[in-house]
Amino acid sequence: MFQKIKFGGKQKMTFQSFLSGVPARDYIFQSAPYEEQMKEAAKAIEEAEYVLIGAGAGLSAAAGLTYGGKRFTDNFPEFIQKYGMTDMYSAGFYPFPSEEARWGYWSKHVYVNRIAPKALPLYQKLKELVNGKKYFVLTTNADHQFYKADFGDDKIFATQGDYGLIQCMSGCHAKTYDDIEMMNQMHQARKDCQIPSYMVPKCPVCGGPMNMNLRCDQHFVEDDAWHEAESRFGAFLDECQDKKTVLLELGVGFNTPTIIRFPFEKLTREKENMTLIRLNLDEAIVPESLGKRAIGINADMERSVSDIGNAILVKEKVKPDHSVNDGM
Ligand SMILES: [Zn+2]
Repeated sequence: MFQKIKFGGKQKMTFQSFLSGVPARDYIFQSAPYEEQMKEAAKAIEEAEYVLIGAGAGLSAAAGLTYGGKRFTDNFPEFIQKYGMTDMYSAGFYPFPSEEARWGYWSKHVYVNRIAPKALPLYQKLKELVNGKKYFVLTTNADHQFYKADFGDDKIFATQGDYGLIQCMSGCHAKTYDDIEMMNQMHQARKDCQIPSYMVPKCPVCGGPMNMNLRCDQHFVEDDAWHEAESRFGAFLDECQDKKTVLLELGVGFNTPTIIRFPFEKLTREKENMTLIRLNLDEAIVPESLGKRAIGINADMERSVSDIGNAILVKEKVKPDHSVNDGM
């Protein structure tokens, strides 16, 4: 599986050529002080024409959508009592005894993570950070937060699915179905962790069971909208590959590193015009060989995203600007 890497040349980029399974061998925690990193990150974003955001589970957790702890015990007491569940992540893999029970759980999960929350402040702050830039979002999160925070439907590629969509469990046809109305009804009708039998959805084509449109096995449905987002993402990559670009990675750990983490490292390695800013609560290690073109910020993202934004504002304020009346 070795591909020839062409240095300096411009080749057409696609989502497939972007993906990488190769981890770095020279990871380090950078020793630069936090304040220094804030300045460096602010400078990189200011100077960039393009920003490619790569977001993982850590971003939504930092924004408040945590899958365990108090948020789980507050929202799922009856499920904890009935099934002994410990968190929302592993609960998704629970071997439910019936379809009524399975949708009983998922309607709660979708309600709590996708329907009830509005755009969270961290996502809104992130949006402010890229205002005025050409940007695109690649996310593995299914909670729809980038859409809610108005990043723009045509600038988001949610590659692993969305809690607002269901599909045929065996993927017999390449279509997804909006589930918000259905989930709301299930959420209201649920009793003893189960929904009534008449509410259980069936595939309109094969009659089999339906499933969440989440990439958890080989039956994940990539529908027309998914493919359109994929090609817009490819076009963005192609456009920015020789331009001043920041790869802004947020909360991407080592669970599925081949979709964002490793590709971002590979891009930074191959393209001198790119800078990687990696924000992570405790896994912000970066390849040492990337030198100053990688900034690994090991901190709470609510804080670091604010601080980078403030660092940009401070610099804008002290800019020597003699035009008193420039309309601002
Ligand atoms: Zn089917």
